[in-house]
Amino acid sequence: MTTPTPEPVRSTLKDNASPVAQHVACPFCGILCDDLEVSKSAKGLKVTRNGCDKAIAGFERHLPAATPLNGGKPASLAEAVTAAANLIKQARLPLYGGLATDVEGMRSVMALADVSGGVIDHALSEGPYRNFKVLQSTGWVMTTLTEVRNRADLIIIVGTDVHALHPRFFERMVCNQDSMFDSPPLKRTIVFVGSGLDQSAAVGARVGEVVTLPCPLDQAGEVIAALRARLKGAPLGAATIAGVLMAAIDDLARRCRKATYGVMVWAPPGLNFPNADLTVQTICDTVRELNATQRFAGLSLGGNEGAVTAGAVSSWQCGYPLRVSFASGQPHYDANRYAMSRMLADGEGDLLVWTASYTTGLGVPRTSLPTVVLGTPGLEMAQAASVFIPIGTPGVDHAGRLIRCDTVVTLPLTDLGRSVLPSASHVLDAIQSALQI
Ligand code: SF4
Repeated sequence: MTTPTPEPVRSTLKDNASPVAQHVACPFCGILCDDLEVSKSAKGLKVTRNGCDKAIAGFERHLPAATPLNGGKPASLAEAVTAAANLIKQARLPLYGGLATDVEGMRSVMALADVSGGVIDHALSEGPYRNFKVLQSTGWVMTTLTEVRNRADLIIIVGTDVHALHPRFFERMVCNQDSMFDSPPLKRTIVFVGSGLDQSAAVGARVGEVVTLPCPLDQAGEVIAALRARLKGAPLGAATIAGVLMAAIDDLARRCRKATYGVMVWAPPGLNFPNADLTVQTICDTVRELNATQRFAGLSLGGNEGAVTAGAVSSWQCGYPLRVSFASGQPHYDANRYAMSRMLADGEGDLLVWTASYTTGLGVPRTSLPTVVLGTPGLEMAQAASVFIPIGTPGVDHAGRLIRCDTVVTLPLTDLGRSVLPSASHVLDAIQSALQI
């Protein structure tokens, strides 16, 4: 019988009870590292352990002064909430976009969209949709960050710059010193399929060989398709596929067959080219076929700006992963019709309600629609909002929960007390209450 690992003690900086919070979960990318240490002083928050540049930029950002605005003029929170509710009441088809929030915020968005007959979609849903199309059609065999960390002996990074999107992925999941099952931990082989991918973090005692199959990123799927064919023993007449020597693809096929726990990793936001879902499909088909005789799995990263959380909450609340309209009084799903970028480009909807609580870069897109914006102070906006309400960042200004990119863990976020700004959930619930008055 093993002794259960004790739950880490999560401290809060809200009341200045302790100047340092440990085991802090970072909300600034989808892998949600939960080992950060953050201190608070009169100068603000400081990441004192385990933060990457992205985390430091997020936690240590000094918020500009911000107040609710109604028609560009300062207003109280109650006035701004009432003004937002009035705009929603008048709208025939409000669009709820951005959706960079936490579980609680997303639940509140869903409730408000439901009562107001609106449409929901996340600002970065193009990425997750490269996955959803595959998941909905054929399914997949997936693993978790923890399994990769402890078991994988062959890690194939396909067509995406994982290090740029998730700066500590290699440190925590690939190059980790300890393993739950092997002592000393086994070395693993890292394969990069694609040219120009940042390999600088694939170093250390856990890393054996690093292999590169250089090809244009939008042709990584072709290389995996050739690998799939060779794994089946199919002859391929070409000497190269997408610039990769067939001998290198055959070598990767041999490595796959020898692996005890192989994993193909991709980050859907990084597959930024037309029909990228076909690359995900090819990866998943190859993984599924390998499982006929051995253990192999996929791992999808991404999930920045709460994108995985928004998709998961939408799925469990209404059965569909975003791009849902409640205009008919019940959830109606259409991945093309309710893609918000398309709706805005085609002039559909008559009000945009935008929620962005993590970074200033997830600004409101240019639109001629009136806008209600719930945003972190400093949020970039293409035009002045009809109503602007500053909100806090989950895990920095207030507590919350986020779903990790592998969708198996919902992590609690610490209230670090950077500001007293309200949560998106608090504001959205207030708007919903004001709708019913
Ligand atoms: S890798 Fe992502 S989750 Fe981890 S500390 Fe950096 S931004 Fe935060």
